[in-house]
Amino acid sequence: MLVTTCLAKYTVRVKTEFILSAASAVHHAILAHESEIESLDRAIGDGDHYINMKRGCATVLSMRDELATFAPDAALQRIGMKLLSTIGGASGPLLASFFIAMAKTAGEKGAETLPQIAAAFAAGVEAIRMRGKADIGEKTMLDVLIPVARTFVELTAQGVEPDCLLAAIRQQAEQGMLATRDIIATKGRAASLGERAIGHIDPGAKSCQIMITAVCDLIAA
Ligand code: ADP
Ligand code: MG
Repeated sequence: MLVTTCLAKYTVRVKTEFILSAASAVHHAILAHESEIESLDRAIGDGDHYINMKRGCATVLSMRDELATFAPDAALQRIGMKLLSTIGGASGPLLASFFIAMAKTAGEKGAETLPQIAAAFAAGVEAIRMRGKADIGEKTMLDVLIPVARTFVELTAQGVEPDCLLAAIRQQAEQGMLATRDIIATKGRAASLGERAIGHIDPGAKSCQIMITAVCDLIAA
């Protein structure tokens, strides 16, 4: 495996400042992929996924001054609550539940070390799974998020080097996103298309891969 020989012990601290930088990086990345995200949702959805994501990013950035005064878990909770009422579509409540669950786990267990941050991320993904009543292999954002969460938890438990961790996460996100192209959807709007959805990447999987890659790039910079 890519990472087993990379060993390191490290402690990082998620600061609200980092959350705001990540929000800005995600915003730029979503804007840079407008036509791709839009055309994917036009092909197998209703064409609004890019607009929904852009609105979500703009909302978070508009809260920047307020969020800067909060501790990280409180900022994540506030973001989740706000997204619940602003993004809309199927993805709105799902992404909102991600932030709310992440906030809860970060508040209870801390977000000081990489394993703790990975645990908070995994709790967020689990909340999406519960809320959407979906799982891996249903041609949704979870095809990216579940493998990334698993990799994040497993590799941070092993204490791998940050570079190796980021490379493995990027790779899982890309692989999960591409895997949605060859399967039918059993959740979301694309489920009604049956075989006609085959050949198209899921828009939510694509936007999650874009967001995860953007955060990895930010950390690596
Ligand atoms: P809508 O489908 O209401 O138009 P969006 O276009 O914003 O909302 O989001 C569509 C994306 O939401 C899909 O591409 C898929 O990744 C994700 N999605 C839809 N339903 C579910 C679900 N039940 N569980 C997880 N993700 C889902
Ligand atoms: Mg849509």
